[in-house]
Amino acid sequence: MIPIADYHMHTPLCGHAVGKPMEYAEAAMEAGLEEIGFADHAPFVHCEDPNITMSIKQLPEYYRMIEDVRKKYSNCLRVKIGIEADFVPGYEEKTSVILEDYPYDYVIGSVHFIKNWGFDNPEEFEKWNRKDVDQVYKDYYALLRQCAKTGMFDIMGHVDLVKKFGHRPQEDVTQEVVKTAQVFKECGIAVEINTSGLRKPVNEIYPSLSVLKIYADAGVPLTFGSDAHEPSDVGRDFDKALELACEAGYGEYVLFKNRKIERKVKI
Ligand code: ZN
Ligand code: FE
Ligand code: FE
Ligand code: ZN
Repeated sequence: MIPIADYHMHTPLCGHAVGKPMEYAEAAMEAGLEEIGFADHAPFVHCEDPNITMSIKQLPEYYRMIEDVRKKYSNCLRVKIGIEADFVPGYEEKTSVILEDYPYDYVIGSVHFIKNWGFDNPEEFEKWNRKDVDQVYKDYYALLRQCAKTGMFDIMGHVDLVKKFGHRPQEDVTQEVVKTAQVFKECGIAVEINTSGLRKPVNEIYPSLSVLKIYADAGVPLTFGSDAHEPSDVGRDFDKALELACEAGYGEYVLFKNRKIERKVKI
């Protein structure tokens, strides 16, 4: 068995993904999925980088592209329109303008930056050498909480992305995760299992089992995403993702529509 929906798929508009959205849809059906959701990187609000996100001017093209996929596959695949937006403190206003531009089915909030450092960007990898890893983890979790509290997001993406290159804290950060899970629960935000970590140096799903257990115990709703940047990534390792969810204690996951939980699916 695999989860029926992949909610984290990109498009070539971000400048670093390949394949047409139609090809992602075809791959999804081949993988046995019933539902997909695109969540391409929202235009950056703090700078412009055509290799990381589309520009604000390209947003209408994004909507049109996905709406075309939705129409084409209307009798065989449910297609949701989401977006993955960065949380950058101080830019909430600019971010909310983008998020209010379209009736998204869900918005994934992601933390890829600590201050101005793109900690998961291979081009900024060398900055890790000058960092206190424990502090990076604490800063990261504080940002996740701050992100959730803005109320601008529905799902938090890859919630232990700091481990991407294999850096591990010396200190026990369990309490940071517990606090974060409580905030998600209070804010009514879901967490995703993101299988792309298996394709990264850390070679683990985001988040790790011990982390996911804390979210399950706190009663935080769950979604699944492959973070596909090419059609062959769609639904990738979803068998492992489902196994992880069960092991963590999840008995169900959720589907979104119009920025609300549409229904729950039993595992
Ligand atoms: Zn990307
Ligand atoms: Fe991301
Ligand atoms: Fe992504
Ligand atoms: Zn992502």
